Amino acid sequence: MVRALGSADWEETTGGDRGTAYQNKVLDLGTYQTHAVRAALDRMPRLLCHSMERIVFVDADIQIGDTSERGTLGIVYNDQPATVYISASGEVDTASENHLDESVPANQGTFARVIRRILHEAVHTAGNLLESQTEGYDGDQAWASGAQSYAAKVIKNMRLMTGFDDEWERLHESFVESSCKSLGESHWVCSLGPGGMNLAGDYDPVLAKEIGEEADQEAHRLGFSTAYGARNPFEDLAEVASAALAADLYSEQGVDVGGYVIKASPRLDACWRLNQEAGPGIPAAVAALFTKLAFARDAKFVPESEFEICAGEIRHQHNGRGYFSYKDNELSKEYKVNVKADIGPSANVLDLYRSFRFRAEGPTQVGSTPVTGQIMLKLDVALKLEGLDAASWPRGAYLIETDSGFFGNQFWFVVPENRAATFYATKAVVMVTGSSDEIVEGTVFVVSGWRPWAPLPVPQVGLPAKATFRAVEAETSDGPVVDDPAAGN
Ligand SMILES: [Zn+2]
Repeated sequence: MVRALGSADWEETTGGDRGTAYQNKVLDLGTYQTHAVRAALDRMPRLLCHSMERIVFVDADIQIGDTSERGTLGIVYNDQPATVYISASGEVDTASENHLDESVPANQGTFARVIRRILHEAVHTAGNLLESQTEGYDGDQAWASGAQSYAAKVIKNMRLMTGFDDEWERLHESFVESSCKSLGESHWVCSLGPGGMNLAGDYDPVLAKEIGEEADQEAHRLGFSTAYGARNPFEDLAEVASAALAADLYSEQGVDVGGYVIKASPRLDACWRLNQEAGPGIPAAVAALFTKLAFARDAKFVPESEFEICAGEIRHQHNGRGYFSYKDNELSKEYKVNVKADIGPSANVLDLYRSFRFRAEGPTQVGSTPVTGQIMLKLDVALKLEGLDAASWPRGAYLIETDSGFFGNQFWFVVPENRAATFYATKAVVMVTGSSDEIVEGTVFVVSGWRPWAPLPVPQVGLPAKATFRAVEAETSDGPVVDDPAAGN
């Protein structure tokens, strides 16, 4: 339940160490401010509505620690994890009534910015709510029981019981670690299309302080929604999700808000960047952005419809469940039988990891003989000794680099009727772009393989350059694997 506080509610805003900074500075909402709050609420999915308990407009600069920061429009404090403060002070471009009069064309950009900023802050409160339902959270439980139980369900669905914030940061880092930027320009990862996987960079407060289109475009190249999102993981999430929730405010034809048509000039955020690419398929240059947007969808920050508008033409080429390989962007093979995904321990007793396993079968041929082919994908997701709850669904980028196919991340193509045709990938990249109990989906780029049971073991040639996989109703298990090819099929 969201409440907009007014001047009589000052005492509710004095928690924590901000002292009297906002004393007598809390505003009663004016007509245009009310429009802006309503427009933001209209765009909030259930998680955000549950998470934002209070919104307060103050006639003061935003207090950050002991200092006040001009130009910062809103904030959520750690010790008040469900309260959003919006600054309505200053001469230009603020959330004051004067600057929100949307009938003045020059103000329309400000109006859109304030709506987006409220959404941005609500993403922070929603992130706080989700984190509050994970192990080890020791902050304030600021939310109603209904909000907490809803968030607990989201956390369980994504298997993030050991930490929401950490997983979001790990997602970004997986692209950094798998990019040719960190592996070196001569690494085979750089052979994956134009620029290879050179798309991710470190969180960079310096870049975050730069303002303007060039800084935002540099941020996109590094995998962030905006330069501001490059500041730290929490700003990154708030920027990605609020971009999708506010995307309609930047549409060419404008949007009706409280009886006025808002026309704001486009903003160079994640949605803008994704809409620059032609689809379908997921180009490496926007893989990190797309995966983050899908994470925001899976975590219920962004509804499916807004996700699709923001992603534009960027999407998986196939909506069915199974494994689909492509040649020159045309579907060449489908494996849609016995599709299964789970998390379990490896059959290899020497393997220290608990793994995500995907498998699917389908008709193919060896030479001119029709046979059944089995796809098997294994991605390590947690150490065995950490227990089943520590094993989340896979997300982000995974490298397969194996000389034996016995350890680590693996990709196998198994032909039970003709063992010599079986191969494992020696070099591949797997990008998992969406994952929850309902769906795990991603793209596989197999670069090279090896046929260990050929009469003379030989490199596999003519591999599908790209494939997508999609499983539904994934499950977890503590039971042993009986059909692991590496265990001797
Ligand atoms: Zn923020």
